[in-house]
Amino acid sequence: MGGMGGIIEMPGVTDSEALATLHRVFGYEAFRGEQEAVIEHVVAGGDAVVLMPTGGGKSLCYQIPALVRPGTGIVVSPLIALMQDQVDALRALGVRAGFMNSTQDFDERRVVEAEFLAGELDLLYLAPERLRLDSTLDLLSRGKIAVFAIDEAHCVSQWGHDFRPDYLSLSLLGERWPDVPRIALTATATDATHQEITQRLHMPTARHFVASFDRPNIQYRIVPKADPKKQLLTFLREEHSGDAGIIYCLSRKSVESTAEFLSRNGIEAVPYHAGLDAGTRAAHQSRFLREEGLVVVATIAFGMGIDKPDVRFVGHLDLPKSVEGYYQETGRAGRDGLPSTAWMAYGLNDVIQQRKLIQLGEGDEAFRRRAAAHLDSMLALCETAQCRRGQLLAYFGQDPDPAGCGNCDTCLVPPETWDGTVAAQKVLSTVVRLQRERGQKFGAIQIVDILLGKRTAKVIQFDHDQLSVFGIGEELAEGEWRGVVRQLLAQGLLAVEGEYGTLVLTEASGSVLRREREVPLRKEPKKPATSRSASGSSGKGERKAKAAATELPEELQPAFEALRAWRAEQAREQGVPAYVIFHDATLREIATAWPTSVTQLGGISGVGEKKLATYGEGVVEVLASLGGAPGSAPTSGSASAVDGDPGADDWPEMDAEPEPEDWI
Ligand code: ADP
Ligand code: ZN
Repeated sequence: MGGMGGIIEMPGVTDSEALATLHRVFGYEAFRGEQEAVIEHVVAGGDAVVLMPTGGGKSLCYQIPALVRPGTGIVVSPLIALMQDQVDALRALGVRAGFMNSTQDFDERRVVEAEFLAGELDLLYLAPERLRLDSTLDLLSRGKIAVFAIDEAHCVSQWGHDFRPDYLSLSLLGERWPDVPRIALTATATDATHQEITQRLHMPTARHFVASFDRPNIQYRIVPKADPKKQLLTFLREEHSGDAGIIYCLSRKSVESTAEFLSRNGIEAVPYHAGLDAGTRAAHQSRFLREEGLVVVATIAFGMGIDKPDVRFVGHLDLPKSVEGYYQETGRAGRDGLPSTAWMAYGLNDVIQQRKLIQLGEGDEAFRRRAAAHLDSMLALCETAQCRRGQLLAYFGQDPDPAGCGNCDTCLVPPETWDGTVAAQKVLSTVVRLQRERGQKFGAIQIVDILLGKRTAKVIQFDHDQLSVFGIGEELAEGEWRGVVRQLLAQGLLAVEGEYGTLVLTEASGSVLRREREVPLRKEPKKPATSRSASGSSGKGERKAKAAATELPEELQPAFEALRAWRAEQAREQGVPAYVIFHDATLREIATAWPTSVTQLGGISGVGEKKLATYGEGVVEVLASLGGAPGSAPTSGSASAVDGDPGADDWPEMDAEPEPEDWI
């Protein structure tokens, strides 16, 4: 967002009603990126398919047309649990918004229906399963509709884990209301999903808007997994103490145990997964939105539509199934544009586990092939020695900065690589010998023990100390061998088979054994790099309790804190999340600009007409009570973002590594 300066010059709708609405209702100075073009197109009655990362500003793309065009904007959203909050936030802006869903009783619904029919609603939120009902369609045809907005439009994709069958019925909107523009929005960036949305929603003449998917304020880091819970604790303590964030785990069991572990260690954390009853889930979600500094430990069931702007970190203790999933989940960090971290611990067992899940999971051969391709891309991201952001953007078909981003682990601390050809041959020949000479298949642990020449009970039981490869790998440590095996699996030079995750050769293995190709590998750090060695773009090293104050000059901190305390009180009184009153970014600007009158406050980004009327005097009083401004400082700020998605929850339970298991 801009400072308090003049209005930025733009071609097109500069003096339009759309821009006037942006100023008056939302208090923002200028449109961002594609917003202006999208809004202009939809206001004029055109259909649009919009791909924008989370925090990119999708909501305005349909909210402003709904306000500018006559009639009500109908917003189709799968997120029933968030509708109340969305509507509250709009009402705080003076927008006449309502929703209809199963959480309401008959009378509440009747009120909303009457408001809609009387033309008293700017926006009406509906779940797709409600929209489909004849009674709803009938109601809608008796009122005036400004625009149909289909949010989280990737839910039409049968391949994605957010698939909602009811989204398919949305194709009828175009037939039934040919004159009402439709806008489909998603933060899922792949071309395949893009095509699917266009086809399944029957939007052949829509204009397509694809924003940049870069999230420059998110620092991407993937660390080798050793003792994941401890590593997580260190990361949180050193870099995100007192911050709100989300930690993703694969299974319900690990969600529970991680939340419990963090709580025991003084970090307030609550679990969230599909196995919890609806009441508990809603309570935990609500706490996350309303409290500051709460950590939610969750399966992928948590996150879609969570528009909390100040999520400072997203962590992964297990490997996501795809780059799409990883991007969606990490994208929930830093919607407010302030520095945030995407942190993941990743190790050999993640690879084995995911490969096993694909093999043993449901679905036909084509499904498995697709899942494997998705996993391969995810593994390539984990193993790359290049810029992670560059790899992400390239995955989504966008052009990365060839010089690297400077804000991911591989840019900050470039990993060393080494020629792992001989090591790879040793691993592969051990697998070959076991199979050829003994007709046996074993998992990674046994292979590594053989290479290291360890006479474990299992090595002795199977006479593996008699193999010619026994002890040929003493030059590397156990962790390094695990790293070699992991990278061979990731590169498809080795495969995992069956329930026990035994290692077998692939077609590509032969070329390594025949010395026809080299195998460059990433060096395993002796000791995992601590978070500090990759401290963020702020260059300030460790930060104190509250990340929100990031980069605000020290003399302005008291004002910022006073404003936050005032905001917390307002939020409590009204029972809404604090960010519904004002975002941190807005409070920062207020502290920086130090308005001494309500009129001056009105010039600040994020302070619209309604909020000025409601809170103007309160804010000015808070500042006045602190005495004069401690001298001026330049304003700063930016914004960015991605969206989230829930998903299937019936993951097999999974152990943290290392896994002292029988693999045979
Ligand atoms: P998305 O739905 O794409 O994830 P949002 O619509 O929630 O993103 O917008 C992300 C954040 O950016 C919100 O806090 C929003 O108020 C803010 N924002 C959106 N557009 C603008 C703009 N033109 N100027 C300033 N802030 C904006
Ligand atoms: Zn980078």
